Amino acid sequence: MDLRNGFDIKRYIRSIPDYPKPGIMFRDITTLLSNLHGFRAAVDELVWPFLKDEIDYVAGIEARGFILGGAVAHTLGRGFIPIRKKGKLPSRVIGQDYALEYGVDTIEIHADAIGKGDHVLLIDDLIATGGTAGAAIDLLRKSGGEVVAAAFVIDLPDLGGAAKLKSKGVKVHTLVGFEGH
Ligand code: AMP
Repeated sequence: MDLRNGFDIKRYIRSIPDYPKPGIMFRDITTLLSNLHGFRAAVDELVWPFLKDEIDYVAGIEARGFILGGAVAHTLGRGFIPIRKKGKLPSRVIGQDYALEYGVDTIEIHADAIGKGDHVLLIDDLIATGGTAGAAIDLLRKSGGEVVAAAFVIDLPDLGGAAKLKSKGVKVHTLVGFEGH
């Protein structure tokens, strides 16, 4: 048991084998978010290392990063910036491609969302290979932002994502880890 704020966050994460495809163990946070203590514990634990840091914005990655990132931004008393899949944001955007297992995907941010030198905290639910969060960091930097840190509820350390972000010079904060994929 790994108590966080007196709450066992890991116990409330549901694991679903072979979703969305065979061989993937999907770590489902909806069961954590729907628990009144679970949601609060997760947000509090994501936030506490950064209470004294200089942060101008919290950025969240679509879609589960919006739920957590919005709550983190509200808790810190900062604004929230969405990083979305290609074609979803209405105004002028900056994009960043990243490699998937098969093919390429693109994430986007509004071109005017961040000012030069603004300090940004990046939030998502889970880090696996670090492809998505790595692209988000590149995007935030391209927009002129300085990425203070990246925080996730779940780490899959065997996939090396947290190490990849650290090698990009970004602090990484995660709450629980699961072995394997
Ligand atoms: P990656 O880019 O490989 O670090 O993958 C991270 C993104 O994919 C996050 O937005 C996650 O929500 C999602 N993801 C990857 N693997 C899993 C998994 N095993 N369970 C749930 N979500 C996952």
